[in-house]
Amino acid sequence: MNFYFFDSLNNLLDIFYPQACVVCGKYEKNHSEWICQKCARRIIKYKKEKYDEAIVPIIYEKSYSGMQVKKYFDGLLFMYEYKSIIRKIILNYKFRDSSYISHFFVSEILNSKKFNEILTRYDIIISVPIDKMSERVRGYNQTAIILKKLNKIINSEKAGIKISTDNLIKIKKTQRQSLLTGIEREKNVKDAFNLVRPKEIIGKNIIVFDDIYTTGSTINEISKLLKSNGARKVLAFTLAKDWS
Ligand SMILES: [Zn+2]
Repeated sequence: MNFYFFDSLNNLLDIFYPQACVVCGKYEKNHSEWICQKCARRIIKYKKEKYDEAIVPIIYEKSYSGMQVKKYFDGLLFMYEYKSIIRKIILNYKFRDSSYISHFFVSEILNSKKFNEILTRYDIIISVPIDKMSERVRGYNQTAIILKKLNKIINSEKAGIKISTDNLIKIKKTQRQSLLTGIEREKNVKDAFNLVRPKEIIGKNIIVFDDIYTTGSTINEISKLLKSNGARKVLAFTLAKDWS
């Protein structure tokens, strides 16, 4: 995959920004971005672009249920620390009808040499599905929209990585993970997902793309499904990691 020279990204996507900064709400004359310059400068502080193969998630990290839960994914890659301004941006993106923020994350992925290098080692990137109801209310799935835009820009076939937003589906209504404790999160997502075309993932190295990594319960449940259907390696890739 070779997709990090995109100076004219804005021209490739149809973007309409609001009149004020989504973080601080400040209105700037001739505003042409979704974030003001002052807020934009603060983003860098939380940028991590960290790849961790030795990540010890879920139960090993915090003993929620007292039981050892097997880890089914092989590594974690994330862009930011989930705090301060990044937390604000992601919450805005998820809950405030701000789908244009996806453009920011798309360009962050495209312009990162590190992401490019890591992503080339995988065959498929899949997005974590959300409830049909949540998608109707929000109007978009925040992770699928990023992958769809990526797909629009890179020629995924040529790049050697398949972008998939419709193979993994959600088959159980779940509560918002952020409202639950660790053990409740595990129960909440148990058997919540399925594959439409399981044969597609046999022997493949797969990236599961989600917004926030907290306890790893969602990623782990999906990885379990992928591995039991013959996936070789699974990498969790998220916008941010939450340590709280
Ligand atoms: Zn601002």
